[in-house]
Amino acid sequence: MKVVTTRNELSASLKQEKQTGKTIGFVPTMGALHPGHASLVKRARDENQVVVVSIFVNPTQFNNTSDLDNYPKTLDADLKLLKSIGCDYVFVPSADEMYNSETNSPQIDLGFLEQVMEGSSRPGHFQGVVQIVYRLFELVRPDKAYFGLKDFQQVSVIRFMVKTFNLPVQIIPCETLRESSGLAMSSRNLRLTEMQKQDAVGIFSTLLHGKQLAQTSKPSEVKKDMELFFQSFPLDLEYIEIVDPLTLESLEDSWVKGAVACIVARAGEIRLIDNMEFISNEG
Ligand code: AMP
Repeated sequence: MKVVTTRNELSASLKQEKQTGKTIGFVPTMGALHPGHASLVKRARDENQVVVVSIFVNPTQFNNTSDLDNYPKTLDADLKLLKSIGCDYVFVPSADEMYNSETNSPQIDLGFLEQVMEGSSRPGHFQGVVQIVYRLFELVRPDKAYFGLKDFQQVSVIRFMVKTFNLPVQIIPCETLRESSGLAMSSRNLRLTEMQKQDAVGIFSTLLHGKQLAQTSKPSEVKKDMELFFQSFPLDLEYIEIVDPLTLESLEDSWVKGAVACIVARAGEIRLIDNMEFISNEG
């Protein structure tokens, strides 16, 4: 496994790989890797001849400086994990390497996609995500790129970006990996106390509760009931939304295939995000 810190070195290495006709699978991350990240890398390993992982805590997608400053960093452990699961290249650039005058990314109007949920709660967040993912795609030129459905809205935004700029990459959405308690794995969980970790299971319990109700009640009623149910947990609820998976519009009176419930809540100052598909997309 090769650890690369400059754009030039990475593109030179990957150019050689591509000249021999190898396919490239890419997993962008912000490090502090856990088994959820590893599941994306393993899938990339299964489906491609070359696997590239980036580790970069992208400042432009943080709208809160304390969240950025406190973002966990565990580079040595990350590299060890990536090596053990067969990653070929790890790209660990500095902020200057990604945002100097030689790098660029086009403007994009994300419209409604950045006006709801994470878009309205974290102004500028998705513009920052698009900015960095576009630059990474340009550099890596992957055949397939792997993203976790834990960040469900991010997957919608990335797909929209790929379509808008007609980028030759296939986006592969991957299921959320959870602790045995049901808590979605997240780098931010490293900052939770044991007590907060137990409390945070309330997010998963509320999603399960809502999914059950979705069989008999309409979306607006399920949402209200989930909000009430959530009150029994000592977490601060930011929002619960039940949305159409394609448009992200809130569902009120009727269900659509693939309807997803999204929750964001805080345990202390740690912001936790999760979601669950309530209505199967199949059949
Ligand atoms: P991050 O380092 O938080 O930017 O995450 C990098 C990628 O891993 C994103 O595509 C995330 O959606 C994905 N990811 C994060 N947590 C999980 C999880 N628990 N299960 C599956 N994928 C995840």
